[in-house]
Amino acid sequence: MTRYEIPTDTRSWIGERYWSDDELLRDAHRRFAEVGPNIEVSNDTGAFLATLVRASGARRVLEVGTLMGYSAVWMARALPADGHLDTLELVDAHADFAEGLLRDAGLDERVTVHRGLAIETLRTLEGPYDLVFIDADKGGYVDYLERALELVRPGGVIVADNVSWSGRVADPGNEEPDTLALRRYHDAITGNSRLHSNVLPIGDGVAVSVVLG
Ligand code: SAH
Ligand code: MG
Repeated sequence: MTRYEIPTDTRSWIGERYWSDDELLRDAHRRFAEVGPNIEVSNDTGAFLATLVRASGARRVLEVGTLMGYSAVWMARALPADGHLDTLELVDAHADFAEGLLRDAGLDERVTVHRGLAIETLRTLEGPYDLVFIDADKGGYVDYLERALELVRPGGVIVADNVSWSGRVADPGNEEPDTLALRRYHDAITGNSRLHSNVLPIGDGVAVSVVLG
């Protein structure tokens, strides 16, 4: 078996062409460091989310966990002009920053930031969505998946970030609550015959589950 690994300098070469942040996003990372944790997706994950939005022909996208609005900008830029992203955030300081960034990016009409506990907002939203991106508290992932299964159309996609959890998911000695929650998420997507699931080794691990018709 051949094992492939892209060398670091090749990753840079590719990244410059496909995954680069523009000045608006670079500046946003810097400014957000004063507001909250820089735990947004990696730029290759952001670019991948944009590709998924385009490849699935998504018009309605739902994101659980907004933070600074970084992944929201990648996805909203990939939507058609009549598309819409609903993104859910608990912390007001994060939601405030994200709304400012989305305004600066000219995307404020294409994105709605919903404040409050995601599980409560999820009850009020109506499908069908084409794509759901789960990236909030890890303890909530399985509940978000359950609601996503009700909201996503057949053929739509459910995506989850941090499914490697910096390698902790595969460390049998690690039993931290978030690690256990992420293992339960893996069990839930692999054990569900309505889903075709895969994990991409980008960023902190990205699970992609296609909802079968
Ligand atoms: N998707 C973002 C990163 C999200 S980080 C990006 O890549 O740019 C996770 C976010 O989820 C944080 O902003 C955190 O405040 C939010 N969060 C945590 N628990 C939540 C909950 N129960 N409901 C809604 N948002 C929550
Ligand atoms: Mg994440």
